[in-house]
Amino acid sequence: MPTAKRIALLGATGSIGASTLKVVRQHPDRFRIAAAAVGRQWEKLLPILEEFQIPVAAAYDAEAAEKLSRVYKGKVLSGMEGLLAMVSDPGVDYVLNGLVGAIGCRPTLEAIKHGKTVGLANKETMVMAGDLINAALKANPKAAIIPIDSEHSAIFQCLAGRPANEIECIELTASGGPFREWPREKFAAITKADALKHPTWVMGEKITIDSATLMNKGLEVIEAHYLFGVDFDHVRVVIHPKSIVHSMVQFRDGSLMAQLGCPDMQVPILYALAHPERLKLDVPRLDLAEIGKLEFFTPDIDKFPCLRLAYEAGRKGGSAPAILNAANEVAVARFLAEKIHFTDIPKILERVLGGASIGPLSSLEDAVDADAWAREAAQS
Ligand code: MG
Repeated sequence: MPTAKRIALLGATGSIGASTLKVVRQHPDRFRIAAAAVGRQWEKLLPILEEFQIPVAAAYDAEAAEKLSRVYKGKVLSGMEGLLAMVSDPGVDYVLNGLVGAIGCRPTLEAIKHGKTVGLANKETMVMAGDLINAALKANPKAAIIPIDSEHSAIFQCLAGRPANEIECIELTASGGPFREWPREKFAAITKADALKHPTWVMGEKITIDSATLMNKGLEVIEAHYLFGVDFDHVRVVIHPKSIVHSMVQFRDGSLMAQLGCPDMQVPILYALAHPERLKLDVPRLDLAEIGKLEFFTPDIDKFPCLRLAYEAGRKGGSAPAILNAANEVAVARFLAEKIHFTDIPKILERVLGGASIGPLSSLEDAVDADAWAREAAQS
């Protein structure tokens, strides 16, 4: 009987966190939550700490950490320092990074430096600092990243350890979001409520808006480039509205491998936690005869300029993806606050990218500086 993996769960109260807890509930003998962190939702974290008897907690927000420490008997860490202490603790074997946004980057790097396996659901890590993460992985051969994003998990599962030189191309599937069939003229009138209606996945607000603009797919293209070492000409996007095929790998021998399943994040989370084993999971099974047909379309880059901008930033490399990502976070937050139109999001990104001086990343500080510059530029 293998001993239970001791997991540090970052982003415990988010949607990835909730799915992870469901998986852990099904396999208490295999997985134990040794530490849990949140951004600022300490009140939602408290019952989780109690249910899973988690000895160490952290909140990125200092005030939230302070409030949590008044009611919680265990150890409470605070700020980025707290997150870094949590992921480097010798009592943690595995870091599941489900944080949303740029704050997820540094904990991933720290975990790799300490030889941990990271289940990565935080997109920003690879987008902001892909080169730095890959260099850190090379320098720390005990460490590993296992992707959790459903598309990248699909690719990882299709690859089954085969090297990049056997890949002809990666085909990332995209649902196309709620506006796939809307005429372009109506885009300026899109409301927050319209954009929050994702056709297939239930996710956090930020990523749901990114799915509606296709920026989510754009960030995933960049993520795939860094995770699997495939150049941008060979990472393609195909629209697949039902989100049944989670992504595909075209191999050089002509075989196209796909991973299919009902859209439920528990599947990639369990795969990342148990890898290379496959454990039992109580989720709905696909009935292909009932589904009948699977449709695929080419994305409309004119209707969704965010996808084009992501390829452009990815090809430029260096600090460009970090700049794109930060500007997008600001633009999406402003859209969610109902301060700008849906169609302003790509306009802001285009202007920020156009005005940026793009340089190489020699350390995480460079990525953080680029991120800060882009936030400022996007705000104004
Ligand atoms: Mg995804």
